[in-house]
Amino acid sequence: MRHVICALSLLLCLAPAIQAKTSLTLIIQFENRHSQESFDAMKSELQVLMKDVAIDWRLLEEMQAGESFPDLVVVKFKGACLMERLPSYLIDERGPLAFTHTAEGQVLPFSEVECDKVRQAIHSAMWGDEYKHADALLGRALGRVLAHELYHVLEHTKKHEKEGVNRSGLTGRQLISDRRP
Ligand SMILES: [Zn+2]
Repeated sequence: MRHVICALSLLLCLAPAIQAKTSLTLIIQFENRHSQESFDAMKSELQVLMKDVAIDWRLLEEMQAGESFPDLVVVKFKGACLMERLPSYLIDERGPLAFTHTAEGQVLPFSEVECDKVRQAIHSAMWGDEYKHADALLGRALGRVLAHELYHVLEHTKKHEKEGVNRSGLTGRQLISDRRP
């Protein structure tokens, strides 16, 4: 927990310097278990959606003391980031799939993704053979959710666009569909 607080206080200083540039470091923290297949699918989906940005993925737990990066966003993945059968009553469907912290009206480079809520949203949108590729589809959904949050961070805005992954209220179907929203 101490690392998160350190990272966050550092980010508060760096926040105004972040621009939509060509390279971006994402510092990832999984709070719970995750599927490597989902993680890999998330990376490729995000790279397609942000094709003009060279994304450097780093795990918070592997960071060395004293490392610094010009443009970074910390992303915490909460809940279990893998598809498996869990009693559905354990999952609270309410609330957003992800959010990005703000302070005094400014968007901060610190996002949180609610894996349990994303899982719930896509599970009820799946059909047929999609269940066989559930972890890959979870990764695709997480990539779209993450692209949405990074849009808020990089554009310094709480607003949404009318189309695409930056619209508000993406449905479970839009998160996993072969056709990007
Ligand atoms: Zn949003």
